[in-house]
Order: sequence, then C-alpha cells, then structure tokens
Amino acid sequence: MASLSQGLRNNRISVESLSKSPILCPFEKVFPSQLNRDDAFYMRLAYNAAIDAYNQNEVPVGAVITHHGEVIATSHNQVELTGDATAHAEILAITQATRKCQDWRLNECTLFVTKEPCPMCSGASVMARLGRVVYSVADKKMGFLGGALDISKVQSLNHQLEITGGVLEEDCKELLAHFFSIKRT
Ligand SMILES: [Zn+2]
Repeated sequence: MASLSQGLRNNRISVESLSKSPILCPFEKVFPSQLNRDDAFYMRLAYNAAIDAYNQNEVPVGAVITHHGEVIATSHNQVELTGDATAHAEILAITQATRKCQDWRLNECTLFVTKEPCPMCSGASVMARLGRVVYSVADKKMGFLGGALDISKVQSLNHQLEITGGVLEEDCKELLAHFFSIKRT
C-alpha cells in the first residue's frame, strides 16, 4: 500500500496548500473497553485526540503518554491554532507529562502517537528519555523512527528508544487520508 507521504506527493499537494475552511470529522470517537489495556487501547485514545484535531482544522494527529499504564498526557496537533510549527501532538504531550511527573526524564513512560514522529518529535522523544514510542501510521517522507530515517539506529545517542509501529494503522491512516482528501476539494 502506498504510504501517506507518497500519496501526498503523487497528488502534488502540501499542507500549506490545503483549504483553510473548517470541516467536521465524519469519524466518531471510539471508547475502548477498559478491561484490555494493550497498545491498541491507548492508541485508540490517541485516535480520539486526533479527531479533536480534525474538528479544529488541524492535521489529525493525536498523542497520549502513559506512566505504568496510567494516562498522564493527551494532546493533538495545534500548529494552526498556535501558529507555531513546534506545536505537534508529541511535543505538547511531552510537556504535559513532564509537568505531571515533575521530571524531564520520562524513562518509565510510553508515547502513543497516530503518525510516526517527525525529526523534531523523534529527537524530543530521545531528549525526554522516553522508554517506549508506539506509533500507528508510518511516514516514509518525514518519519524518523524508521520511515525516512531511524534515529534509534544512531549508536552514539545516549538514550535508545524502544519502538513499535503499525498499531491501529488502518483507522489512523483512514483519518489522515480523509482529512487531506477533503482539504484538497
Ligand atoms: Zn512532530
């Protein structure tokens, strides 16, 4: 299956060229059973945050950070709202988690995010010493946890991330693809 970034390239669009008109997300939030708190459970919470982004005319990426299974941060992309290129879901969630833990080191924490982190967010994950990063949709163009490059392969870094990709991939990919298809028209 063609990657999202390939699709974007093939269709010759960029985020900058998208319509500014807000649209309501046609997908519903899903509230998963609390009984089975696996990766898909937490990714579903990140997916729900991505729907909030969609409804605020932001590229629908959501993120959740857990500490020993407890959700300590939930955020979504807010680049348009803040006019700040660094307001990615992961960065905002890391800041929330740092405040909650009162420690910038998040070794005991796991980040769940609906798209593979970009260079900035992959770097921030290393700098925050996140124990684990779980992402949904791989990004061959901008992803730095294996898509375009793999920051975890840089042996000289003093922190190594445990990485899992492809969790809840179809749903998160469908959300992103729909957002961009609507914005094109
Ligand atoms: Zn990012």
